Amino acid sequence: MAKRDYYEILGVEKNASPEEIKKAYRKVAIKYHPDKNPDDPEAEDKFKEAAEAYEVLRDQDKRQRYDRFGHAGMNGGGFGGGQSMNMEDIFSQFGDIFGGHSPFDSFFGGGGGRRRARRGSNLRIKLKLNLEEIAHGAEKKIKVNRMVQADGVTFKTCTTCQGTGQVRKAVNTMLGQMVSTSTCPTCNGSGKLIENRPPGVDSSGLVPKEEVISIKIPAGVADGMQLSMSGKGNEAPGGGPAGDLLILVEEKEHETLKREGNNVVYDLYISFVDAALGTSIEVPTIDGKVRIKIDPGTQSGKILRLRGKGITELNGYGSGDQLIHVNVWTPKKLSAEEKNALETLRNSENFQPKPGRNEKGFFEKMREFF
Ligand SMILES: [Zn+2]
Repeated sequence: MAKRDYYEILGVEKNASPEEIKKAYRKVAIKYHPDKNPDDPEAEDKFKEAAEAYEVLRDQDKRQRYDRFGHAGMNGGGFGGGQSMNMEDIFSQFGDIFGGHSPFDSFFGGGGGRRRARRGSNLRIKLKLNLEEIAHGAEKKIKVNRMVQADGVTFKTCTTCQGTGQVRKAVNTMLGQMVSTSTCPTCNGSGKLIENRPPGVDSSGLVPKEEVISIKIPAGVADGMQLSMSGKGNEAPGGGPAGDLLILVEEKEHETLKREGNNVVYDLYISFVDAALGTSIEVPTIDGKVRIKIDPGTQSGKILRLRGKGITELNGYGSGDQLIHVNVWTPKKLSAEEKNALETLRNSENFQPKPGRNEKGFFEKMREFF
């Protein structure tokens, strides 16, 4: 999906001042705020889109880069590229826009209307995969240590906020008395406090628990990509939705095969006798050994292609190839007898290099294959 212009998203001019941008963002964020639009994925997308635009335009450096290079200058990164901010980030980074004495509390009647169940934190793990698993996808069972709600914990209503999760404070200002609302410091906004806490349970009622989680890895992932499993992170204190499990992919090096994008490259060494006479030889592939034919008169540097023997594309359509780079091995040591045999061939007419039009150079080969 093409990204919309950040200025357009916030409805401001290109030369808008930081104050105008902040104001515009607040307006859009309030309009699409999830509390005001429950279970409306379209509003949620708009809310996230606005946060992303604000995140860039409020920062002078990022804004300059965006003005010069557009979205291409922003380098989204992340799994699938161009990933937008998640709700947790938005509330933690721009919370001041909504909380405190923002128009937000008055907007939604403060207290009850705005209370969000706190979400559990994300859990991050690294997952090492070998080339075979990357090529075809894999299902991995891994042990994670998640924070889960402990048994035997009982809660009571927070006495500071009477369960609303918010406290109100009257502040005297030049304009007269103003009431500001903020998150309750005693219960951190959950409205509940632990009454009975069994040993080993933390102050929010959670205990670490080892769990085995089955992760489906799609074919074609690459080193550094991050996959996310919604709701498999830490559970939330007081019963909110659980966080996500974030899985950072690490690629294990293969013994003999090298990955180039979705192609797999193998360096094959053959003797010059085999190169001259031709032979058939076994080479490793992701799916085990395969026998290939070396034609008589094969030149060093030739690239053979095993179609479809590479890595399946991440989108599932098609796959790369295996490229076999043929190197002719020159012996480093020779017996007297071998030397004699080769000396008799040294001046033979057929042993003189005669590169012709069909002998492609290195760069031509590269262009043809990559
Ligand atoms: Zn409280």
